[in-house]
Amino acid sequence: MQYEFKKKKITVMGLGLFGGGVGVAQFLAKQGAHVTITDLRNATELAPSIKQLEGLPVTYKLGGHCDEDFVNADMIIVNPAVPKESRFIQIARDNHVPLDTEINIFFQLCQAPIIGITGSNGKSTTTTLTGKVLQQTQRTTWVGGNIGKSLLLHLEEIKPSDIAVIELSSFQLEELRTAKKSPDIGIVTNISPNHLDRYSSMDDYIQAKKSIILHQKPGDYAILNYDDPELRTWEKECKSAVLWYSTKDTLTEGAFVKNDTIVLSVKGEAIAISCLSRIRIPGIHNLQNILAASLAAYLTGAGKQCVEEVVTTFSGLEHRLEFVREINGVRYYNDSKATTPESAMAAITAFQTPVILIAGGYDKGSSFEKFAETCARHTRAVILIGKTAKRIKELILQKKTQKETPSILTPNTFQEAFQQAHVLAKAGDVVLLSPACASYDMFLNYEERGRQFKDMVQSL
Ligand code: ADP
Repeated sequence: MQYEFKKKKITVMGLGLFGGGVGVAQFLAKQGAHVTITDLRNATELAPSIKQLEGLPVTYKLGGHCDEDFVNADMIIVNPAVPKESRFIQIARDNHVPLDTEINIFFQLCQAPIIGITGSNGKSTTTTLTGKVLQQTQRTTWVGGNIGKSLLLHLEEIKPSDIAVIELSSFQLEELRTAKKSPDIGIVTNISPNHLDRYSSMDDYIQAKKSIILHQKPGDYAILNYDDPELRTWEKECKSAVLWYSTKDTLTEGAFVKNDTIVLSVKGEAIAISCLSRIRIPGIHNLQNILAASLAAYLTGAGKQCVEEVVTTFSGLEHRLEFVREINGVRYYNDSKATTPESAMAAITAFQTPVILIAGGYDKGSSFEKFAETCARHTRAVILIGKTAKRIKELILQKKTQKETPSILTPNTFQEAFQQAHVLAKAGDVVLLSPACASYDMFLNYEERGRQFKDMVQSL
């Protein structure tokens, strides 16, 4: 597809705070387009993004949208967070104004092969790991996408011999489907219900995720989690070659574990890296992320040393099962990014020691049945906050057996929750913030929630 941006009137709908809006606005302004940025949020809420655009010739229409920006425009760039049924999208359609997205433009124009990474949980960790392993090689590696960095601005620097590692959300993938694009290598970490406040059904959500393989060609690769029942069914729809990874089974090809080694095997060639006992990020879920990332990196040129170096030194991302501090034998972990029941369950079961859990928050329409079972079975106390607290409490009480007796507390504030966890914790315990819910009912975002938790730990 050919793009011409010079002197075009382009509306960026949704600046947001995650980098995509900023990236596309910078790119378009640099290309000589007349850019109007419109967002429902006001300038104060968007201050960090606006600051990054300082000095650029862009017009702002904040605190709401105006019809005219969707009528008198040559193109609308829609943020993936904008609901499809938005009245303004319809106005653009009625006026035959083309709609596009930041990620679509990147996929159409990027000269380098792309490794795209999606899944319900583990996207950022896997994206970071893949990028770090490839950065050990000679190949120039670019990391971006939903992880919070747009690579559009670097488009001219990205050479065909480089490689781009891109995290993709389900919303971004939906748009890629429209553009009939999929990455050269697509990784899917797992599929579990998420964002069901935005999708009409689980099937709709799965279809959005499937865009990562749908337009792949023979010669491309799909790297899929063999341990995930939904993903096992995807093979028949792949035109690309499927490579599986598993923490449980020995496979003939793909990535798996054997005693203390990680085995990576592709087209009859294999490497074995003896490193399992030296991995620093806890939990089976993180081992899955490591297998997926190592396999993608191996496939694109990384050798044994590059994989080993990263796998044995990477200590995790902020807010993802992040170790904060040990005080009087109690270890404190910040897992504020666990905004789904599955990610919180992965965190709780990553510990062999008793867990005192702080959970609850904004209601994304998730089911907490299995999460409540995990709480009943694996925690010593559950301290619940936010909109979902009452529902989770009732479910844990229903699920627990006579032997399982976690204390369940429902304080009014996050500060109180932390104090209660601190008082309950004994030497050998883990105090874990892993909310299983988004944060929007009490915090600006998950980062603010995680930082407040860490501040309270540090001030003990
Ligand atoms: P995402 O980008 O998909 O949100 P992250 O890597 O940022 O994933 O991790 C988000 C949360 O999910 C964290 O709490 C983390 O501990 C947990 N998590 C990471 N990888 C997995 C996985 N493979 N399965 C389940 N939970 C995971």
